[in-house]
Amino acid sequence: MALLETRDLTKEFGGLRALDRVNIAVERGELVSLIGPNGSGKSTLINTITGMLEPTAGDITYAGTDLVGMKPFEIAQLGVGRSFQTASIFPELTVSENVEVAAFAAEHDSFSVNFFRRRDAYDEVRERTDHILETIELDAKAEETAEALPYGDKRRLEVAIGLATGPDLMFMDEPTAGMSPGETEMTVSLIRELLEDWGMTIFLVEHDMDVIFDVSDRIFTLHEGQVIARGPPEEIRDDPAVREAYLGGEEA
Ligand code: ADP
Ligand code: MG
Repeated sequence: MALLETRDLTKEFGGLRALDRVNIAVERGELVSLIGPNGSGKSTLINTITGMLEPTAGDITYAGTDLVGMKPFEIAQLGVGRSFQTASIFPELTVSENVEVAAFAAEHDSFSVNFFRRRDAYDEVRERTDHILETIELDAKAEETAEALPYGDKRRLEVAIGLATGPDLMFMDEPTAGMSPGETEMTVSLIRELLEDWGMTIFLVEHDMDVIFDVSDRIFTLHEGQVIARGPPEEIRDDPAVREAYLGGEEA
């Protein structure tokens, strides 16, 4: 059974059909990417799966559980994480405090109030925070105030906050947007580490095609809310429908 599956997932905004009967399946441990021109529905698909938006029609199952109608925090508790946008960062807290807050929130959800009475609770959270900051290479900046970080570090802190909740499946929406080549490279090696060492499943939306073709096991292509192509990178690269979607009919 696939870890995540959508069946005829449809999302309308007024008269606009942003997702049109989307059927995708993600297996445990793989990295799938979602590509498509601007406005093709990529963020809407992530937001619908993670409970930020309610689908108009269709099904979503994660590890056999029906996600439709569940709240974002309930979906997060099942092990579905996302690398949030900057809004999830507390600017006045330090880097490590930001990660601790997220880790505490997750522990609170999974172990209930008793968690806070356990003497080793804080140690566990600290340990997890340190591990995450090392992985993400922010350990040297752990005591810096979040708002003082350069842009690329802020984006990686968002990933760290997403990881703190201990997800099995992680959604990343354009994690390298606005990053320098060096920062992009660091993010790519981080993604590899999450896959290989942490055994995570990753669902990536990314505009950088070099990154996409480099890291993906499989790629889904969206165009006007529909999946127009799916397959391994080498197939997608040469797919005429994909080229046409990106060229936007300019060829004619
Ligand atoms: P992508 O992430 O691929 O660029 P989006 O999922 O953001 O595309 O948007 C898909 C379509 O849905 C676009 O036409 C966009 O304008 C529209 N859309 C996205 N979010 C909303 C919203 N909250 N309300 C109305 N329309 C939206
Ligand atoms: Mg988007």
